Amino acid sequence: MAVPISQMWTVASYVLGKRIKGNKRYPLVLMLEPLFRCNLACAGCGKVQYPPHVLKKVLSPEECFAAVEECGVPMVAIPGGEPLLHPQIVEIVNGLIARKKYIYMCTNALELSRRLHEFTPSKYLTFSVHLDGLREHHDFAVCREGTYDIAIEGIKAAVARGFRVTTNATFFDGTDPNSVRAFFDEVMSMGVEGVVLSPGYSYDKAPDQNRFMGRARVRRLFRAILSNRKKTWKFNMSPLFLEFLMGKRSYECTPWGSPAYNIFGWQKPCYLLQDGYAESFKELMETTEWESYGAASGNPKCANCMVSCGYEPTAVIDGFGSLSGFWAMVRATFSMYKDQGALKLLDEPVANGHAPLVQLESNAREETHA
Ligand code: SF4
Ligand code: SF4
Repeated sequence: MAVPISQMWTVASYVLGKRIKGNKRYPLVLMLEPLFRCNLACAGCGKVQYPPHVLKKVLSPEECFAAVEECGVPMVAIPGGEPLLHPQIVEIVNGLIARKKYIYMCTNALELSRRLHEFTPSKYLTFSVHLDGLREHHDFAVCREGTYDIAIEGIKAAVARGFRVTTNATFFDGTDPNSVRAFFDEVMSMGVEGVVLSPGYSYDKAPDQNRFMGRARVRRLFRAILSNRKKTWKFNMSPLFLEFLMGKRSYECTPWGSPAYNIFGWQKPCYLLQDGYAESFKELMETTEWESYGAASGNPKCANCMVSCGYEPTAVIDGFGSLSGFWAMVRATFSMYKDQGALKLLDEPVANGHAPLVQLESNAREETHA
């Protein structure tokens, strides 16, 4: 596992503290979306299709700090939109570091090299660079040629300056597992701390609705990708969540584990669905009908979801919440998952090879380039 010991200790003691107090539902990571605007318009994105007046809005630093303090999480992910387009992002990041929160700032890195000098390396700050695979696959996924090379330049510059850097990838139907494995080799050779990955969620708003996978396809893909691992590969996420993706364990969703806060308020029930908003974290926890979500609920919107924001908290709580879970996590950290059947999957032709690159235009892109 690539996560530093100090961060693991912070999360482990937080989970144990909640268990000792008998808390049944508690958050681990705040998904803080300070804006929805982006300088890309990826086909699988469910965020940048808002109308221009929404895309212009941002959360203030004070709103961000109040949300973090109210929910009390040890970790904050800053997705978006593209956080580097927020005019006060440096102030937000510095304020969160001062509060000793572990921050994962998700960025497509188009602006990263140019903006790096404004940030200070810290164990609390990680740039989590959106990279969906090798050059051709990434440029296809984000619907613009040339983005891979710019992101790589940003990653190298950030690593050279001493920042913590991870990559985060979302995979859809038609992904070639061999290409993903080659991608792991490439990014690890750049000195990144680890890779973060997740299957995509079938957002209603996403322009391309044909690339989402059902659960069986997700398991098959991740079994092919993650079995027979190389020692050099590092993953900046729970090894038990990776086992879940590979079909080696079943978990239920913990939607309150990664609550989402954005310009509309606290999103019900999770980062992916929008079944209303609460004005406070307390209201979110008390008024959301949690039993209506997750695969076991029968909710069709959750039926195919295996996304990290819902299922990684379950894996983290499992790993740090009991001795047996901790032992499973240690074993999973060091396992290479030798699997002959998975090797055969790598020889199969890719079912849904992607079409030539389509460059999508959107209000968001036009606006951020204005
Ligand atoms: S980089 Fe792509 S997925 Fe991320 S917010 Fe921008 S458009 Fe959406
Ligand atoms: S299963 Fe997925 S979509 Fe449903 S509540 Fe959990 S994270 Fe959200």
